[in-house]
Amino acid sequence: MSITRTYLDHNATSPLRPEAREALLDALQAGGNPSSVHASGRAARRRLETARTAVAALIGGSSERLVLTSGGTEANALAIRSAAASGDHGRLLIGATEHDAVANGARAVGLPVETWPVDTNGVAELCWLAERLARWSPQDGRPFVALMLANNETGVVQPVADAAALVRAAGGWLHVDAVQAAGKIAVDHDALGAHTLALSAHKLGGPQGVGALAYAAGVAVRPSLHGGGQERGLRAGTENVAGAAGFGVAARAALHELPHANNQAVWRDVAAARLKNVGVRIAGEGAPRLPATLCLAAPGFPSALQVMALDLEGVEVSAGSACSSGKVKPSGVLAAMGYRDLADGALRASGGWNSTEQDWDRFAEVWLAIQARRATSSAARIKEYA
Ligand code: PLP
Repeated sequence: MSITRTYLDHNATSPLRPEAREALLDALQAGGNPSSVHASGRAARRRLETARTAVAALIGGSSERLVLTSGGTEANALAIRSAAASGDHGRLLIGATEHDAVANGARAVGLPVETWPVDTNGVAELCWLAERLARWSPQDGRPFVALMLANNETGVVQPVADAAALVRAAGGWLHVDAVQAAGKIAVDHDALGAHTLALSAHKLGGPQGVGALAYAAGVAVRPSLHGGGQERGLRAGTENVAGAAGFGVAARAALHELPHANNQAVWRDVAAARLKNVGVRIAGEGAPRLPATLCLAAPGFPSALQVMALDLEGVEVSAGSACSSGKVKPSGVLAAMGYRDLADGALRASGGWNSTEQDWDRFAEVWLAIQARRATSSAARIKEYA
């Protein structure tokens, strides 16, 4: 007997939107290398540039300053490595709840990395940054600071514009990982004041394996991949035209739907309220969050068991972030927020473009039923041994 499946794991990857799939398949079918001068090449170039314009529009940015990459990880790496290669930055400041793409990407360049703490809601401490920048040593060059726009586990939205003002006043570079935010909340690159901003297609209903780095005027992006002169010389290699086409169409759809994105917050909060009744804690609840991300911590109920029990009932969510190794490890994000005792009971449910009120209802229903069964069986075990 097949069971109903409820997918609430959009922060891991969002299902491909039908219109993005169509654009992707059309481009694959059409073929053509955007660098070729013949008709097929010119058509591929048009697809690529149409996509670039749509992706730039999602962040109110300019298609002139947007490099297409293989995803969010590469976009983040391109920014970090550009800063490191410039020789202007001798030390990196990284938000405590950054994704591994930024945290490990920063460690990989070999410069000293310092962690910028968050408060108990997971919001980066602006006072800490102001104080740290005030005593920045000239020997460390210009500050390079990375702060994500929205956290992948908790959905907490960071005060990026305020951070950018501080970093700019100190003559630094602010890099923003906007992979989870773009397409879920309004993102305006200029208003945020970020020097560079990373995006990924598969978090908003586009295909996996494509992303972008947007950069502000005057920022020197330096290529990490050398070869042909593609992407204005900033990323060598024949472009992923089909992926970009899917990304562009998904970005356009996400932008169009943004005014309705808040509906999800209502459904999520109804589900959260039911879980809180049985003692569950909600991470980042006191901070602005993405509308469809819910990170809960259930004392004494390990994440891995929650994920497996829900999966058996057809509900797909993850434990904190979807770890690439497939293993469930305690949430570093919750630990950074001071919830060390709860970090191994973290669970993330995340909705997206095709999620419904029923999905959120079913998630709460099934989670509560599993929890009730657990309570009954442990009560029975205690009785047996009494
Ligand atoms: N940054 C954040 C905040 C993410 O959540 C992810 C993916 O999980 C990435 C970066 C990496 O993006 P990609 O999977 O496109 O490399």
